[in-house]
Amino acid sequence: MYWRQPEIKRTKTVCTYCGVGCAFEMWTRDRHILKVQPVAAAPANGISTCVKGKFAWDFVNSEKRLTMPLIRDNGRFREASWDEALDKVAKGLLHARDTYGADSVGFIGSSKASNEEAYLTQKIARLIIGTNSVDNSSRYCQNPATKGLFRTVGYGGDAGSIEDLEKAEVVVIVGSNTAENHPVIASRIKAAKKRRGQKLIVVDPRKHEMAERADIFLRPNISTDLIWASALSRYMFEHGYADLTFLDQHVNQVEAYRQSLEPFTLAFAEEKTGISRQALIDTAEMIGTAQSVCLVWAMGITQHSHGADISTALSNLLLVTGNYGKPGTGGYPMRGHNNVQGASDFGCLRNMYPGYEKVTDDDARARWAKAWGVDKEQLSDKIGEGNFLMVQSAQQDRIKAMYVIGEETAFADADSHNVHTAFEELDFMVVQDMFLSRTAEFADVVLPGCPSVEKDGTFVNTERRIQRFHEVMAPLGDSRPDWAILTELAARMGHDWGYTHPSQIMAECARIAPMFAGVTYERLEGWKSLQWPVAADGTDTPLLYTDGFPTEDGKATLFPLEWKEPDEEADDEYDLMLDNGRMLEHFQGTNQSGRTAEIWHQTPYGFIEVSPQLAAERGIEEGTWVRLTSRRDSVEMPAVITDRVDGKTLFVPIHHGKIGINALTGEHHDPDVHTPAYKETAVKLEVLDRE
Ligand code: SF4
Repeated sequence: MYWRQPEIKRTKTVCTYCGVGCAFEMWTRDRHILKVQPVAAAPANGISTCVKGKFAWDFVNSEKRLTMPLIRDNGRFREASWDEALDKVAKGLLHARDTYGADSVGFIGSSKASNEEAYLTQKIARLIIGTNSVDNSSRYCQNPATKGLFRTVGYGGDAGSIEDLEKAEVVVIVGSNTAENHPVIASRIKAAKKRRGQKLIVVDPRKHEMAERADIFLRPNISTDLIWASALSRYMFEHGYADLTFLDQHVNQVEAYRQSLEPFTLAFAEEKTGISRQALIDTAEMIGTAQSVCLVWAMGITQHSHGADISTALSNLLLVTGNYGKPGTGGYPMRGHNNVQGASDFGCLRNMYPGYEKVTDDDARARWAKAWGVDKEQLSDKIGEGNFLMVQSAQQDRIKAMYVIGEETAFADADSHNVHTAFEELDFMVVQDMFLSRTAEFADVVLPGCPSVEKDGTFVNTERRIQRFHEVMAPLGDSRPDWAILTELAARMGHDWGYTHPSQIMAECARIAPMFAGVTYERLEGWKSLQWPVAADGTDTPLLYTDGFPTEDGKATLFPLEWKEPDEEADDEYDLMLDNGRMLEHFQGTNQSGRTAEIWHQTPYGFIEVSPQLAAERGIEEGTWVRLTSRRDSVEMPAVITDRVDGKTLFVPIHHGKIGINALTGEHHDPDVHTPAYKETAVKLEVLDRE
């Protein structure tokens, strides 16, 4: 069918998949999405998108969308009116609060919803319920990176912009499959390499596309990244590559840190990491002699039992070499979900108000309380529980009620059987989602939310860039924007805030949180964007740390570290290590990406990557079905034989199946941030006799 141009509506929106934050025009007629049209003015992506942003939009009009609230009656869901459903939710949450205390209620905010919706989620948790147990999916991904950045340089976000990644003389990519997970950023790094000879170092157990393009590719043993990073720092001091002027002027604890590097000799690093001494020296020389270095990292670093320490070690290395505060430098933890940065920035964190003010800081608490019209004592100063702890608390009967917005926790959290048991233990569970997700199946009430194209709002991408998205079409059926649901729910719990548009929510947050003081919808009109922190006059910050660090004395800190053994390792029985991650075509549990038939047909089932050596040893051929068994459970899938993996390391994409790969992963986690150690999973493999 063809339409004349005037009948086509063009609306600016922002991609709802990954953290690159591609913006584009969506061309529609009524509810038909005709095409996604990138434009040069889009600040993060220009005319680029990947396959998901361009084509994976059939979920918007999927017949599986929820269009009415659902209430569980005698074990089955029935459709209900909004009145009945919201009353039940309000009563259920208040009952838990009044009967068992405020900390018996936990909230998981959505990393796919808007900043304004994240703000309302934490406002309900903190102001109405009285708990700081509010979190988002960064607990499963980049929370360790944030911890590492807070320990060293002070802001929990990328040091600069995507443009800085292009400007750097050397880019180091560690534990990030950038070409598949952040494709548009990868394209810009590839272009910088091709056009002006930018040097690329990749460190990863898996030889993915960026590794194939690298000038140096290092393949360390799993969970040894802190060792090679610290050995490089030691090398910098010993060989005159440490930036002593920068350290003297801008960094604390230099001597204590330098002494802590004593154990990290090249010989120790070679023995533990399996990387040759010469490769370590070549890497150190490339970084040490460069004028500007950017370091990119992701889940391959953070999802370990000491991911915060490894992230800290990477930031330490950048400080030692003076790679902060100048164009083309800094640390870049790649944000996964489209708004996982914003969900944290706008307060869905167990210990921080919007704008990263601590709930334990009396002055900040007093200011938030005053702005919200209550006494300081009405806001809790007790650090709440994050996703992982909430699930454990539910099992131990401390958390009685949970409210999960747009997150597929039953699939994405580690050791999923444990999570399911925890959800079954709850007295009351609410899920707000577009679909009857694997998580929603455990709920007592399911509230139908909207995708971004059916509402207004803002997202923050991986480079701290706040961008506006606009309503492309009206909400489907009786579904509602999440901000409208939360506003109505608050009113039913006695707090009539009266928001009629998300701009009012942003204006309120900007009045209270200094980090967003100058953020207004007017300043985000068209293709304009703002990178936080944003001063009251609207001046934003594309590159952090140019005038020092956001600490009391304006200095960064070198943070001494010890290497600790991983919590789970291979042994005689579970003799292989399982790596896992995303594919280009899909996102997480495929609730969105899996509903576009053309995309689903490209990648309809899961598989396991097996190295040629292991395949020869075990008699595995391409397509042979194998069973993987961890200390928790088993899964079965066909094998793909590839040198992307090496020796006894396996790789499985995370997307497929009702329960998925988290049937195998365990409860062990980073004690500093409670991020599960997804990448430390030992398994055994059996060859199956089936087609
Ligand atoms: Fe851009 Fe990421 Fe969306 Fe792809 S998934 S279009 S890279 S924002």
